[in-house]
Amino acid sequence: MASENLSLEEMARRVSAARAATEARGETFYQGASRVHLAAFPPKERWDDWVELSSRAWPARRERRYMLVPTTCFNCESACGLLAYVDRESGQVRKFEGNPEHPGSRGRNCAKGPATINQVTDPDRILYPLRRSGPRGSGGWERISWDEALDALAARIRAAITEGRQNEIMVHIGRPGEDGYTERVLASWGVDGHNSHTNVCSSGGRAGFQFWMGIDRPSPDHAHAKVIYLISAHLESGHYFNPHAQRITQARENGAKVIVVDTRLSNTASHADYWLSPRPGSEAAINLAIARHLIVTRRYDRAFVRRWWNWAEYLTACHPGVPVTFEAFEAILAGLYAEFTFEFAAAESGIDAGTLAAVAEVVAGAGTRFACHSWRSAAAGNLGGWQVSRTLFLISALLGAVATEGGTFPNAWNKFVPQPIHVPPHPGVWQELSWPLEYPLAQNEMSFLLPHFLADGRGRLDTYFIRVYNPVWTNPDGLSWMEVLTDEDKVGCFVALTPTWSESAYFADYVLPMGHGSERHDTHSYEQYDGQWVALRQPVLRAVRERLGETVTDTRQVNPGEVWEENEFWIELSWRIDPDGSLGIRQYHESRARPGEKLTVDEYYGWMFAHSVPGLPERAAAEGLDPLQWMRRYGAFEVTRGQGALHEQEVPAAELADTRVSPLGRVYSSAAPLPGPNIVPLGAPEPDEVGRRPVGVIVDGVARRGFPTPSGRLEFWSSTLAAWGWPEHALPGYIRSHVHPGNLAPDQVVLLSTFRLPTQVHTRSANAKWLDELAHTNPVWIHPADAARFGIGATGDLVRVDTEIGHFVARAWMTEGIRPGVVACSHHMGRWRLDGGPRGAGGLTTTVGLHRGSGGWIMERHAPAGPYESADPDSRRIWWSDTGVHQNLTFAVHPDPVSGMHCWHQAVRIRPAAPDDRHGDIAVDTRRAREVYRRWLAQARPAGRVSPDGTRRPRWLMRPLKPAAEAFALPAAGPEDR
Ligand code: SF4
Repeated sequence: MASENLSLEEMARRVSAARAATEARGETFYQGASRVHLAAFPPKERWDDWVELSSRAWPARRERRYMLVPTTCFNCESACGLLAYVDRESGQVRKFEGNPEHPGSRGRNCAKGPATINQVTDPDRILYPLRRSGPRGSGGWERISWDEALDALAARIRAAITEGRQNEIMVHIGRPGEDGYTERVLASWGVDGHNSHTNVCSSGGRAGFQFWMGIDRPSPDHAHAKVIYLISAHLESGHYFNPHAQRITQARENGAKVIVVDTRLSNTASHADYWLSPRPGSEAAINLAIARHLIVTRRYDRAFVRRWWNWAEYLTACHPGVPVTFEAFEAILAGLYAEFTFEFAAAESGIDAGTLAAVAEVVAGAGTRFACHSWRSAAAGNLGGWQVSRTLFLISALLGAVATEGGTFPNAWNKFVPQPIHVPPHPGVWQELSWPLEYPLAQNEMSFLLPHFLADGRGRLDTYFIRVYNPVWTNPDGLSWMEVLTDEDKVGCFVALTPTWSESAYFADYVLPMGHGSERHDTHSYEQYDGQWVALRQPVLRAVRERLGETVTDTRQVNPGEVWEENEFWIELSWRIDPDGSLGIRQYHESRARPGEKLTVDEYYGWMFAHSVPGLPERAAAEGLDPLQWMRRYGAFEVTRGQGALHEQEVPAAELADTRVSPLGRVYSSAAPLPGPNIVPLGAPEPDEVGRRPVGVIVDGVARRGFPTPSGRLEFWSSTLAAWGWPEHALPGYIRSHVHPGNLAPDQVVLLSTFRLPTQVHTRSANAKWLDELAHTNPVWIHPADAARFGIGATGDLVRVDTEIGHFVARAWMTEGIRPGVVACSHHMGRWRLDGGPRGAGGLTTTVGLHRGSGGWIMERHAPAGPYESADPDSRRIWWSDTGVHQNLTFAVHPDPVSGMHCWHQAVRIRPAAPDDRHGDIAVDTRRAREVYRRWLAQARPAGRVSPDGTRRPRWLMRPLKPAAEAFALPAAGPEDR
């Protein structure tokens, strides 16, 4: 019988039918121990005492009793709700399933959610604070107390702050987990030390959206769309994977068409109505051909374009002799994209013009129900990749499908960030190691250039923290990272806050154990539909103990070993940095209820939920709970639903008192406070309006909220790009990629190195044994035509892939799911540990040797993954040995000169492996990596040359941790060429 994809509703209907049939036969239908049929989620009223049958006791019906406690999955950025099933007898978590009360994930999870139990019970996890006992990277460790670690770190940080070396402190974060907690801690220290992974992830995608709407992420209303256009592997593994995938599925059930632009036949592409497999880097040309089609056939939303695009600003700036009328703009628009015919896009992309025309017709028919998304994928792969998302949003903006039902919203309208109990001021310093002058428009910190900046002598780090981050493994050019992390002159003290061993933690001075998703506190909210929710990640055993009437004052009291959580760690560390409060730091980590005492996480979140989440206190009170108790019990709260077109909201009359209006209609008020905690700060003051806050924009004579851009409108033409050195790219356009065919040698192909596997995420999921069994290797996808061309025989053969700075050796996988001229390799695999080092990610770790050869670093496999002895008998059952190859080590850095994004795609040569090559071999010349870095750096247009106003960066652009206004000033004696 063919398998069926059943909705939960259909499953429930069938169970009901089976029940009726069983009862009609006079037999007893067993509904499940809790008397709720198996197709339903446990109703929240039964979460204190949920009963299930023990599967191990089968066929006996032995019942097990659970307390169900919500938390949030931490295995990707989607933040799906989980329910921990805590055994009432043992007091231990037995499994994780979905939380039906979570508005984003609605009870559903991908494989990685339930696998949280593997991480919790991982026999290789780090349980106690460790300090290295030999030279850095020698593998010697000693167990120390938390007090020893805290005192040592506090002393260093205090000294750096009091000696004016604030820029020698850096906290480098992979996955934040919480909106703004660490930024707030660093601000309280007066340190501009936040670093992120975003420029190796999503900066390209973000920049394109930000230049349009002042907000850097799209929020497609997939569920109500007529056409869904994805430049990503969304259904399979893309951004907000499970919450979006279930809504895309919902839309498809209602007849929506799905268009997927992906060079690789991903699982997502295999579900598409239209799969476009373009040459990498040509995606923006396709988008522009579709946009041109909408323009020349006049099937764009004229009213929307007239009201909301900044066409008047564009005409004023770029066409001074032309009357500033919409008709004049339309006449210019009609010719702007003349070259982007379907034939041109076909020549660039390799997709035939007829197919592109057919897709454009489907798009044209979507009207305002056109939902789109692009995130990593092409925007993260190519030089100029940010124009992929900018041209994608051009289609939405032409259709008027912005903040409409079934359209695409600015993400901040579908996200809720509550105010914390204390808000420290912006730090007064500027961290040039993260925000260098060369990249004034960089979307985020230039994190992946840090080793090169340290090697250049631009600064040093006294104390460098990493958390949920593995820079040696995750970044390109990881061996340059290793070189600086082992150099104590460049990095004085290296601290890894981590639950597990990693390629980077091995080189740390302190390894401090932090909790997994069910062992820590965070709040978070993500744009997953047209609504806003806020959720609490929590240590579930702490919640259980409190539900049973016990008092828990420190999360270490319930976590395994001495595993802690970062929030309590940061509070404690801040107190030790400033024990008497004289540095002004301690005040931001003190209790409000008990002045002079330490802030607790209960007070922190209790205050937040009571004071800055509208509706939550009332909802909690209706059940006799306080807001924190309510959140601990249910995990997530929907704040609003159906936000709609916030840009159309009229500015209240009270806010219009004492306003001034610019010639182009931007309305400024001198009233400093924002109207509410969840209103996104509006855009930039124009130069003559500094100090006054924009509150709206005049549209057809009415002051409306508008968008948080400098103009208050959607910026078809970006005054920021024009003024900051990139006038030729101020309109949505097409930049030929560094891997465009014109930039490749005849024997080169493009390597796509960015795609995810649905059952692994970076380094966080590797310690989950179920996931390791599902996915543990990353062969190189090769089209049979390329295999024949390069003499590669069959699937499984070893191939050598030569990059700019070295090579890697991997197995070939022949497939027609990749276009000829392109090869692909997932970035998840190739985890390694140095021979003699800690085991790390058990089922995914290869043991390697690393040494310097005449041409640079050589990494060779000493032992493959395989069965091993541990407290978990499953570790003796590992049946696989191939754990793939760590290709990122062989990639040089490619900073996009505008967005700052690392452009991941590689121009490579492939050939059959040499007789002495072994699977997983790596060779890297870090001197060549330095040359490539300098070559790409030379493409930048530094603020010292292009800044129009003497600042380092446009103040309206987002920064995770924004310094005070005075820190934006260009340094007086700054190097002219930077
Ligand atoms: S890993 Fe899966 S379950 Fe967890 S947050 Fe991401 S999509 Fe949701």
